[in-house]
Amino acid sequence: MSEVHKFLFDGLPVRGVLVRLTDAWVEILRRRASSGASGAYPLPVQNLLGEMVAAATLMQSNIKFNGSLILQVFGDGPVKLAVVEVQPNFGVRATATVLGEVAIDATLSAMVNVNNDGKCAITLDPLTRFPGQQPYQGVVPLFDDEHEKLEKLSAVLEHYMLQSEQLDTTLVLAADGEVAAGLLIQRLPMAGSGNLAGSMVSQENEDEIGVNEHYNRIAILASTLKREELLTLDVDTILRRLFWEESITRFEPLTGDVAPHFSCTCSRERVSAMILGLGVAEAESIIAERGDIEVGCEFCGIKYNFDPIDAAQIFLPQEGVVPPSTGVQ
Ligand SMILES: [Zn+2]
Repeated sequence: MSEVHKFLFDGLPVRGVLVRLTDAWVEILRRRASSGASGAYPLPVQNLLGEMVAAATLMQSNIKFNGSLILQVFGDGPVKLAVVEVQPNFGVRATATVLGEVAIDATLSAMVNVNNDGKCAITLDPLTRFPGQQPYQGVVPLFDDEHEKLEKLSAVLEHYMLQSEQLDTTLVLAADGEVAAGLLIQRLPMAGSGNLAGSMVSQENEDEIGVNEHYNRIAILASTLKREELLTLDVDTILRRLFWEESITRFEPLTGDVAPHFSCTCSRERVSAMILGLGVAEAESIIAERGDIEVGCEFCGIKYNFDPIDAAQIFLPQEGVVPPSTGVQ
C-alpha cells in the first residue's frame, strides 16, 4: 500500500518526509501500458516519471496549501513532457510524452536536456481562486550554477527549493516498475520566522543556508540511502538504519483511505470546454474528416466521444435559454 510518513528531529530545526507509492504507481503504469496508442514507457522514462511522482507527493505533503501541486519537466530530447499532479487529498495522476528513441541506459539529460533547453516547473494551483488569480509557478533549468547538466531530478528540485524557499533540502528519489519512493530532509526556518520582522528574519534565514550543523549531519546520513534500500525496505527499517543515533518524533502516517492513490480529474465537461476552445470551424472539420470527435485522456486513458449532435450542442448558447417550443407539450 502507498504511504506518507512525516517526522521531526527532536529539538533540531530539521524535518523529514518519506513516501512510498506502490498501488497508486502501479495503476499509473498499468493504464499507460494498456493504452493502445502509446503503450508502456521505456524503462528510463518509467523511472524518471516514478521519481517525479515520489517528489511531487513529498512536496505536496510538505506544504500548507489547499490546491494541486503540478510538477512538469519540459524536455528538449525524446521526452517532450512529463507531468505529475498531486491533489490535496493525495489523488495522483501522471503522464509523459515520448517522441523518439530512448536508450535503455539513457541519462536524464539524454531524455530531456540534450541542448540545455530542458526545464522543470512547479505549479501550485489553488482549489478556489480569487477572480483573476493566477496559479503560482516556479521554473528552474536542468543545469547547475556552473552550467553543468544535472543528471538527477533530486538535484534539480533541491536547487528549486533553495531558490524558492531559501531552505536547505536533501532529496533521495527512486522508482522501478512497482515502487516510487522518496525521502525529503529539510532545514526548518529559524525560530521566530512567524513574527513580524519578516524581512530581517528572511535575511537571517539566508545566512543560515548550508551552515546549520545539525541539518548538515542529518543530510549526509540521508544521502547514504541507496536506491535499492529505498525501493525494497519498509519505512521503519529505513529510518532506523539512517538515523539510529538521532531522536525522532513520528507523526501518524497517511495510509489506507488517506494514502496517495491514483485519481484522474478529467471529465466530459472539461473536454467539452476544450472543444469549445478549438472553435466551431475546427470542430466541424474534424467531424467532416472522421465522423466524430474522440479525445483520449493522456492520464487515465478514458476516451471521450462526441458524435455530430453532441459536438453541435457544445457550440449552442449556454445561457440556460430554453429552445423554441416544437409545439408538443
Ligand atoms: Zn483522465
